[in-house]
Amino acid sequence: MITGKNYIGVDTSAKNSRTYSTFNPKLNKPTEWIFHEASQEEVNAAVDKAALAFETYGKFPDAKKAEFLKAIASEIEALGDELISVYVQESGLPEGRAKGERGRTMGQLRAFATLLEEGSWVEATIDTAQPDREPLPKVDIRKMLLPIGPIAVFGASNFPLAFSTAGGDTASALASGCPVIVKSHPMHAGTGELVASAIAKAAKKTGMPDGVFSNLNSRDSEVGQLLTMHPKVKGVGFTGSTNGGMALYKLASQRKEPIPVFAEMGSINPVVVLSSALEQKSSEWASQYAGSIVLGAGQFCTNPGLIIGIKGQALDGFIANLGKEIEKLEPTCMLHPNIYEGYEKGKKELSSQPKTAEVAAYKGETAPNFGEQKILTVAAQDFLDNPVLHKEVFGPFSIVVQCQDKAELVTVIQHLEGQLTGTILGTETEIKTSPEVVSALVNRVGRIIFNGVPTGVEVCPSMMHGGPFPSTTDSRFTSVGTSAIRRWVRPVSFQSWPEEILPDALKSNNPLDIMRLVNGEHSKQKI
Ligand code: NAP
Repeated sequence: MITGKNYIGVDTSAKNSRTYSTFNPKLNKPTEWIFHEASQEEVNAAVDKAALAFETYGKFPDAKKAEFLKAIASEIEALGDELISVYVQESGLPEGRAKGERGRTMGQLRAFATLLEEGSWVEATIDTAQPDREPLPKVDIRKMLLPIGPIAVFGASNFPLAFSTAGGDTASALASGCPVIVKSHPMHAGTGELVASAIAKAAKKTGMPDGVFSNLNSRDSEVGQLLTMHPKVKGVGFTGSTNGGMALYKLASQRKEPIPVFAEMGSINPVVVLSSALEQKSSEWASQYAGSIVLGAGQFCTNPGLIIGIKGQALDGFIANLGKEIEKLEPTCMLHPNIYEGYEKGKKELSSQPKTAEVAAYKGETAPNFGEQKILTVAAQDFLDNPVLHKEVFGPFSIVVQCQDKAELVTVIQHLEGQLTGTILGTETEIKTSPEVVSALVNRVGRIIFNGVPTGVEVCPSMMHGGPFPSTTDSRFTSVGTSAIRRWVRPVSFQSWPEEILPDALKSNNPLDIMRLVNGEHSKQKI
């Protein structure tokens, strides 16, 4: 049941008289639920509890944390149809998407539980002592990854489950041993509260310390800023706009003790169309790309916002096919009037730039908040000359850039900002003979795709969902997949430490039976 209250650990609280509602974009009216914004006192209470919880939770064995994560997944499942119904009302997204995202959220939690049960993720590294070493004896040094402390998580509007309250940031931080305080997304506060109630139940059932998780409501930036500035918060996970991510990044770096902000922000996800792709499968690619551009009303950080090809008949044919396919598709509801207005504003701004031409746009009647798709085209030199055309338009929108030749295509890629993904369409033969294209693209992106679409982010250990700035604030880390855990840990070396008080991962007899790097060799052997 939705109460509109904050979760301060396992307690619910509504001390602030400032309230707000979520919005049903399909009905174009507010939902029935009223949420109490967290007060400064409630923010402090949540962080104090988290800091206290960290003293025990941060030292819990991996197996115990795994039980907690699995229990969260089960409790989310137990929310049943109520969760799906609230998600659909607050997001305008269809029921199938809600169910798919719930499955992904539970899958992520269980994947982190499996990682913990196996245990080798702590990267235990042992260099044993050499007392007889000449000219100086060598001491015993053992290193492993340890959690950094309470983490503030800012959920994304476009994934009310998988990138929100119990999404990838929360799951990875809890797996690492860090308590989490979620700054609930104002557009899906009801979905967030239901998930928070599931986490609170799971925490009680599995004997977690109070404060291991809190969920704070807020209708604007204040709660998030208080959290980011709180001296006991040690890291921030964020998915959303460039403005939001950069505001938090700057705030965190100005603290007396600066802390890391892992912000996943915008991306236009360039797609390079080599001539061979168009000669062989032009209409197939046009149909796949039209589908990818409008998928989820274009509200994906991996939406293909830029298609780059070399001028000629083949590209002309592809553009014509893409236009036909785009016009056929029915627009769908966007998440919120603010997102819809942002989309319309961005679309208008880019469409009004000189030397751009419309390829196709949806021309029919639509209900309020439905995102009407549009494709533009522009010559490469005009694209290079105009930074406005490099902006992300969050919605079903894309630009086709037409280059004179391969050299100009490489120049266009080299002038792009950092991106989450880059895609190349073509034959294996052509890609082998285009190393300069591949290398330019690899330098700009976190994930490079051959003959596919960038939408659809698999959750698996090899996934890299991140990229050079400004797609994220730190290109060395992913926010999807089990290696996302590395954002919330730091390496600590134990030098000449007594065996009995070493963490289990570093004990000589390897009681956890994990893979370790011992004197330069990977092994599960006892020492
Ligand atoms: P957002 O506006 O950046 O908000 C994300 C979260 O950060 C919200 O909880 C928001 O809270 C908070 N926040 C934003 N600015 C803040 C600030 N200055 N100080 C403290 N907290 C702040 O993103 P969104 O709501 O998900 O979507 C809005 C736009 O973001 C979209 O139109 C789109 O352009 C972009 N977006 C990009 C991606 C991506 O590519 N990674 C994903 C989703 C959205 P408040 O609203 O309460 O301030």
